[in-house]
Amino acid sequence: MEVVMVGVAWAANSLGNYLPLQGNSLNGFIERCSSQGNNFTADLAARLSPGAKISFPGEETFAEATARWSTFAPPNISINVEVAVEQDVVEVVRFANEHNKSYLAVNNRHGATNGVGKVKDGIQILMSQLNSVEVAADGQTATFGGGVLAKDVTEGLWAKNKQTVTGGCECVSLVGPGLGGGHGFLQGRHGLVQDQFVSLNLVTADGKLTKVDQNHELWWAVRGAGHNFGIVTSITSKVYDVVRPKWAYASFFYTGDKVESVYATINEKLLKNNTQEVEIINYSLFINDPTVDAANPIIQFFIVQEDTEIVDEKFTAPFTALGPAVQAAGGGDYRDLPTWTGNAGDQIFCQKLGLSAFRFPLELQVYDIAAQRKVYDLYNAAMKETPALNGSIALFEGYSMQGVQAVPAESSAYPFRESPLLVAPVIFFKEDTPELAQKAEALGTNMREILFEASGQPHRRVYVNYALGIEGPEEWYGAESWRQEKLKTLKKKYDPAGKFSFYNPIA
Ligand SMILES: Cc1cc2nc3c(=O)[nH]c(=O)nc-3n(C[C@H](O)[C@H](O)[C@H](O)COP(=O)(O)OP(=O)(O)OC[C@H]3O[C@@H](n4cnc5c(N)ncnc54)[C@H](O)[C@@H]3O)c2cc1C
Repeated sequence: MEVVMVGVAWAANSLGNYLPLQGNSLNGFIERCSSQGNNFTADLAARLSPGAKISFPGEETFAEATARWSTFAPPNISINVEVAVEQDVVEVVRFANEHNKSYLAVNNRHGATNGVGKVKDGIQILMSQLNSVEVAADGQTATFGGGVLAKDVTEGLWAKNKQTVTGGCECVSLVGPGLGGGHGFLQGRHGLVQDQFVSLNLVTADGKLTKVDQNHELWWAVRGAGHNFGIVTSITSKVYDVVRPKWAYASFFYTGDKVESVYATINEKLLKNNTQEVEIINYSLFINDPTVDAANPIIQFFIVQEDTEIVDEKFTAPFTALGPAVQAAGGGDYRDLPTWTGNAGDQIFCQKLGLSAFRFPLELQVYDIAAQRKVYDLYNAAMKETPALNGSIALFEGYSMQGVQAVPAESSAYPFRESPLLVAPVIFFKEDTPELAQKAEALGTNMREILFEASGQPHRRVYVNYALGIEGPEEWYGAESWRQEKLKTLKKKYDPAGKFSFYNPIA
């Protein structure tokens, strides 16, 4: 069956009492569904708006709509509904509740927690058509559709000399990262993606569309644990004039013998006990790059700086002095950052390559040099022992934190504002054999445990948006008992049946 343009059915059903039906489109559609014993689908279609589309397994459009960035543990979807207006989301949720079906809202399917694999025979609510960007007349806020991607946000605002915090990847949504915090290049200035929220239109588990703002009981929870409480159909966020459009990068590729000197220099010259300059972001990778070293993984290290055409020598000189094998630099404007970091729409991180990706995130205060060495050595050995894992990386992100730390920690459900480092082994592999998946999980777990033990922290602090799903609520939402109790109480009140309990659930 082709994609079903449900609009015909919706319009006819809504207006049928007043207007003559044109042709027999509605009858034809319902008859076709009925002849297949599929009144269920006809009933659903009849409730949706003209632009909504439905697709089913076996159709090309369904395959495209359900393809995922990480193929491991995908949700089991039996119907894809591409909604066209906010009310469609209300209708799908009510319909699914009436028929006891599970459902999952998605944008570009970059979420990679194993939890979504618990969706069985579910309805996927594809939000992509809700991609509007409207700047308010006073220029202080903009309202975005609930399915808008970071690229839509950046381009839509830039055209009006505005910007706001998004994730760094063009093809990741605004809402997906934002509901769990949302790290991005502008967070040093303005805070996390969620810190920009002014209000959300949210469809809750009872199928009601509610405006959630600072006066609503869910306001605290949707900022940090938002995936637990509903589907965002639109969002109003703070936006800012573009006053510092220029950005520059410097890159340094080192051989593995430089692990100690690189991370000691990052600690000493950039992080400086959690005081990295607001205009600086640093990040690095352990990665196999045979063009630099055919035998062992290398360290790719990047500094990006705002408001300049070339990264200031005071930041680059200490890293040049370490003797990189390859060094490069360049400049441009804010919109170039995704390209420089491999996160533009046509680049590797945006592709759905049919790979499984296991991420093992951890929030840290500082690099422990001995632990960095141990992680590198373990990674190096594993790549040699199991070549099927050798596309894996270890990612070390060091954003500036001023804007994040200007927001009181207790004011939202996001629990890790003190941490300037987000690190994550990312284990990629092709075949989904249980043995390889076990090896991937063991490797990532061991790498994370080395870093955790060296950190001296009492609890693992795991960024919910990178989590693999093998962790638990205290690791995703903070170990403080008041946080856990508050979230569990709200969850019981607003989602007692666990309709939104696939993406790293609080309960
Ligand atoms: C290549 C790559 C780059 C990334 N870069 C960043 C980054 O720079 N900063 C950062 O913080 N994170 C980043 N992430 C992590 C990202 O935050 C998560 O993967 C997030 O889940 C992606 O959201 P999505 O909407 O794009 O993906 P989806 O898989 O479409 O959605 C993820 C989940 O969000 C929920 N959801 C989706 N839409 C809605 C909605 N409208 N209302 C309510 N719930 C909804 C659902 O539970 C869904 O399972 C990156 C991930 C990848 C793979």
